[in-house]
Amino acid sequence: MLFRREYNGCKTFSCVNCGNPDPALYSRSSRLGYAAWHCPECGAYPPELSNPPILALAEQIAQTRIPDVSPLIWCCAQPLFVKYGLTRSGSPRVQCIHCRKVHTLANPNTLSKQLQPLLDGLLAGISPVDLAAELTLSNKVFSERMAKLTCLLSTVMTRVEISALSQKVSPIVQTRSHVQVCRSGLSRAANKQAETHVWTLTSVDARTGYVYLISDNVLLSADNASCLEAGHYVPRVKEQGIDSEANVLSRAEKTYAKIMARTQFDELAYCHEKHGQIAKGALLRPVYAAHAHMQILYQQLANTSSVYLLLEHESFVRGAAITAFDTRVKNVTANLYYWHVAADIDADRVSEPQQKTLSWWNEKWFRTNSEREGQHYQIALGYLTPRVSQPPKNADSLFPSELDWNAVFWQDFDHWLPPSHAAKLSMERVRQWQTVYRYLHNIVWSKKPRLPIYKTMKPISVESLVALENTLSVALVADISSGSEK
Ligand SMILES: [Zn+2]
Ligand SMILES: [Zn+2]
Repeated sequence: MLFRREYNGCKTFSCVNCGNPDPALYSRSSRLGYAAWHCPECGAYPPELSNPPILALAEQIAQTRIPDVSPLIWCCAQPLFVKYGLTRSGSPRVQCIHCRKVHTLANPNTLSKQLQPLLDGLLAGISPVDLAAELTLSNKVFSERMAKLTCLLSTVMTRVEISALSQKVSPIVQTRSHVQVCRSGLSRAANKQAETHVWTLTSVDARTGYVYLISDNVLLSADNASCLEAGHYVPRVKEQGIDSEANVLSRAEKTYAKIMARTQFDELAYCHEKHGQIAKGALLRPVYAAHAHMQILYQQLANTSSVYLLLEHESFVRGAAITAFDTRVKNVTANLYYWHVAADIDADRVSEPQQKTLSWWNEKWFRTNSEREGQHYQIALGYLTPRVSQPPKNADSLFPSELDWNAVFWQDFDHWLPPSHAAKLSMERVRQWQTVYRYLHNIVWSKKPRLPIYKTMKPISVESLVALENTLSVALVADISSGSEK
């Protein structure tokens, strides 16, 4: 997949250099005590980034979204397929009419026999903790089937997204971080190491709760270690949260202060030292994970008419978003906001919207109130792009359903796969459970699928899903067949 190659450059909204990677526009500087590229136009000092860790993480996510079918499918420059009967075991075959090569596709019956019991078990309420034992599967067989099932579900979700996220839609997306627990794989005694804490970023549709993307800062195949070294997360003393601050505008103010107090803006210490290492692969700095996440999200939403991104108040999440969406920000088809939300329990409830201008960047913040099912909430919205001067009248329309879908999703997930159990699982396995849960949440467990699905798709039938994927993956030409079928 193609990603932006250069991540350094200005990230200030409305600066002429914003998003422009040309190094000739900037000068290197360590004036603020860290390596930065100074932008002479707006005066910003964005911290220097190393590109390989971002690209490695982005590639890693891309591979799980649509498996690499190219050796099978791209037999020649312009493959065109017709049905070509079945193999003896019942796998469908297709032939390329240009190069005459015959390809065998996945077998819906075989996969259904292997994978349907897993899905049925989970739908019957068996916990992921007990699934392998309940199905009396050995570790090896269970691992193989989990890999196949998650590959299938992930691919199907990608197909659904491609067909649903068209010119007709303008999604509002809530992006927030979450800390996921997994096994460190390091010996406790020697390393004083407990379970690993993984910085995870999630983007959820604000209207429907559809989870577009979950990604994290673990690079599993960290072979080219030297070029990635700059990307490694160095555990430090964990930063204090500001959730205890009741007023959302004060929360915004304290968040800016917290970010400014770091050695550099993007140096987030999200976990204690004993949780900051992993044996297999490498834990990378959250800023790199944020850039990789936004590269993928940008591609997922590429065909939509406009996008509203409600971002966690974290400067490097904003930096990653504006870097990925820079052309769309410029033509105003992407709008970026920060937001805080809190239950309104204090006495200083206000009826009029309040506003404040905060930070070095003079970002405008507004506080509004919202009532959901009898509960009062305060919302603070920071307008990053486009800038506004008056309190917006439509702030509430940015929150058409849940105020924080990420909280809802992760609370349910942690109930389904408790952190105490996740702490015993490899990150690979934890990701598989995240994928399965994302599928159930997005397509199966809601009243109706959270994005429109294909008419022929039966969401809880493995056979139907495999057949759909076979059809879509080869873009089968009309059934010229019967004559050519053998
Ligand atoms: Zn600039
Ligand atoms: Zn061919």
